[in-house]
Amino acid sequence: MIFLLRLIIPTGRAMTGLPLSSILLYDKIKTNEVIMNKAYEEITNKIIDQLKNGCVPWEQPWFGVRGARSYNTNKAYSFLNQLILGGEAGHYITWHQLNMLKGHLRKGSKGKRVFFWSTFDKAEENENGEKVIRKIPYLKTYTVFHVCDCEGLPQRWIPQDFTVKNNKPIESAEKIAKDFLDREKIELKHNNVNEAYYSVRYDYINLPPLERFNSPENYAAVLFHEMVHASGHKKRLNRFRVNDTSSPYGSPDYSREELVAEMGSSFLLKQVGIDNSRTLEQSAAYIQSWIAALKNDYSLIAIAASRAERAVEYILGTKE
Ligand SMILES: [Zn+2]
Repeated sequence: MIFLLRLIIPTGRAMTGLPLSSILLYDKIKTNEVIMNKAYEEITNKIIDQLKNGCVPWEQPWFGVRGARSYNTNKAYSFLNQLILGGEAGHYITWHQLNMLKGHLRKGSKGKRVFFWSTFDKAEENENGEKVIRKIPYLKTYTVFHVCDCEGLPQRWIPQDFTVKNNKPIESAEKIAKDFLDREKIELKHNNVNEAYYSVRYDYINLPPLERFNSPENYAAVLFHEMVHASGHKKRLNRFRVNDTSSPYGSPDYSREELVAEMGSSFLLKQVGIDNSRTLEQSAAYIQSWIAALKNDYSLIAIAASRAERAVEYILGTKE
């Protein structure tokens, strides 16, 4: 980087006769226009990727998502960078900091790019001919590495727990869940504190613990979502295709199943009298993104709704 600047500056200076600081800034603006466009593209693609993987990155209703931090300052990264890093918690370090601390990178480890807003001062004249300084924002980008990919780094921060909330379980929701899970011998685990999923292969549900959610209603919504998935197992309503233990993410089958889970969860919330307006709003956004994936085939929504209804009857044990 320094080598590059040294090459550019003398030529530019000779050509324009501007003071060195302006050239540096001009160079910065030009480079950053290119970086900005690339940054937007990169950010958009990353978010689309996550959407395709069935994750709405800005709607994750538990706290683990703020888990990516700077090794240098121990500060949590911005929401945007958390999205880009895909919610992978832990400390991240730049190449420069890594070298300063005489650490090194494990073979084959790859960095990820994060973005920070910064400003520089630009001198301008206003309508009255007075000199004013305008702050011009631009995006700076850094490549960062997860500390687990680094060796020889001193233990700098004691891993701290994320925000926890004193959520009280909702009794009616707990009862529905317990009855269904006990009857069907489905284990509910809280092993992976950052993820909510149903394992088709091993027939269990994993959820972040209750205190990690921003409300007990959201916990119930996510638990119900996974329970609806579980109802599709071949020994139950057999919604998944033969040998289909892992429908490829983003495939129409997967999209349809996600719709079933979202709708079923909403029905169940209504059943226990939980105000699900917020959840429904999330579902609407969620469903909308899937509609696009499903090429606007609205009949699939109708199919998903009737499957969701069957799933709810099955979960509640009211199926005739
Ligand atoms: Zn799901």
